[in-house]
Amino acid sequence: MSTLLKEANRALNHSGGRMTAQRLLILQTLEALGSHPSAEEIYQAARAADPTLNLSTVYRTLRWLEKLDLVSAHHFHDGNHQDRYDPSPLESHYHFHCRGCGRIIEFNDEQIERIQSTFTAQTGCSVHEIGLVFYGLCPACQAAGESLNR
Ligand SMILES: [Zn+2]
Ligand SMILES: [Zn+2]
Repeated sequence: MSTLLKEANRALNHSGGRMTAQRLLILQTLEALGSHPSAEEIYQAARAADPTLNLSTVYRTLRWLEKLDLVSAHHFHDGNHQDRYDPSPLESHYHFHCRGCGRIIEFNDEQIERIQSTFTAQTGCSVHEIGLVFYGLCPACQAAGESLNR
């Protein structure tokens, strides 16, 4: 069983809730889609397996998973104004968003944590979340753009 499923089951056992078939389906779809799907994309993919699924159930389940810290919502400036859901928020990481193909690449750099601790030391503020996104073109889109220009 995947970590996400295991953690969700554990949280449900704690709260006395239960794993419904639709919750399970949404979790599995979220994992299968991998890279940061939107609620709409999860809905479209999961509906193939269960046509009775509602978009509002998908949103409700995602909010529940967010509250449990099992997924995190990210907003990318990609023109469709939808949050994208990340099933691996446990390790902090940052994102590159390709403006060409929409691909999201995750990265991490301890320098960012260093900036955070310097800031915290200087201001006394506590930091709960860092929103950092790089926007640009991935190597494939750069190559495609170059061939278009030629
Ligand atoms: Zn991510
Ligand atoms: Zn690209």
